[in-house]
Amino acid sequence: MPSTVAVSALMKNYQRLPITILKGKGSYVWDDCGNKYLDYTSGIATCNLGHVPENVHEKISQQLRDLWHCSNLYQIPQQEALAQKLTDLSCFDQVFFCNSGAEANEAAIKLAKKYAKDSGKPERTEVVTFSNSFHGRTGSTMAATAQTKIHKGFTPLTPGFTHLPYNEPETIKKIDTAKTAGILLELVQGEGGVHPADTEWVKALYDYCKQADILIMVDEIQTGMGRTGSLFAYEQYGLEPDAVTLAKGLGSGFPIGALLAKTEAADSFSAGTHGSTFGGNPLAATAGLATLEQIADNKFLNDVKEKSLFLIEALTALQENNRFIKEVRGKGFLIGMEVVNQAGNWVEKLREKQILVLTAGENAVRILPPLTTDIKELGSFIQAIQEVAADFEKKGE
Ligand SMILES: *Cc1c(COP(=O)(O)O)cnc(C)c1O
Repeated sequence: MPSTVAVSALMKNYQRLPITILKGKGSYVWDDCGNKYLDYTSGIATCNLGHVPENVHEKISQQLRDLWHCSNLYQIPQQEALAQKLTDLSCFDQVFFCNSGAEANEAAIKLAKKYAKDSGKPERTEVVTFSNSFHGRTGSTMAATAQTKIHKGFTPLTPGFTHLPYNEPETIKKIDTAKTAGILLELVQGEGGVHPADTEWVKALYDYCKQADILIMVDEIQTGMGRTGSLFAYEQYGLEPDAVTLAKGLGSGFPIGALLAKTEAADSFSAGTHGSTFGGNPLAATAGLATLEQIADNKFLNDVKEKSLFLIEALTALQENNRFIKEVRGKGFLIGMEVVNQAGNWVEKLREKQILVLTAGENAVRILPPLTTDIKELGSFIQAIQEVAADFEKKGE
């Protein structure tokens, strides 16, 4: 009996599927009817180590016995250790912890404004973001998100954001240096349809912002933590941003977000300027550290790259032979498959085959395997895609 709750006390802001997931292990989840699904959503790019990864489980369990929370009024060694490791593994020097992606971006937006003031340019109060971006659902991050469907019903929007076209070289010069404190950018747009940024465009954007002392902040909430095959996506563009934001994959499903920044910018967050009650508490930081230790390993990341190549090549081969698949794009295990019909139809057909995937916009199927998935699971996934594609072909829908 599938469990649909007839009357729910929950607000209706989510369109939930009639599936109740009770258990997860590795790449699989089980529902309340005992059905087993291959989870290639990874809880929306969050469970990058698969469900209930042993190492993280063990470390959080130990921490559960000792201390859950103590507030940021005191020293927190687990938070120190996670910050140290994040900065050791990146071009950044300092970290602020919070609980979600939106909160990490809020922190980045505040940091850009404060940095402009501290560097004698108080008239720079705006942040530039790009078409089809997704930066969150809070007041400021919703306004930062350049998608009208996200804004609908919530005007007036928080002021201070300019939206420019993504991947369009000629618009870079439109960034108003007189009033822009920073840019916030996804290197592979996740929610907005899985669109990687062009390397040349990013380089031009980078050069423009650097010479104007505009902060370059990369939203790595979805692309970070190994999702694109490197620990951070920015590594693949050969440049060093001033700041990045992390969340989704950082805690393997335990809520934690982070803003990482270089000293020059980070120093603007002096005592009392920003904060979060739960941010980086001992439990969350422990989950983050255990996760990072496992992902930040060359062999692990090389495996991800190899497996991703295998999947992308197989999907591209299917695309060449099936008119329902238009394009395969993405990096690492953040893959978008553009289809000619509704992406939602693919999600449904795959679910019937006990495989979970997502959409990104109307026509892109978003495929987010756990980074720990293996060739056998990938093989069965490819087989299922092939069957669904053949089915559409046969019915001509
Ligand atoms: C998910 C996401 C966010 C928002 O994160 P929340 O934890 O839901 O607030 C922001 N930016 C990007 C790129 C995301 O994928």
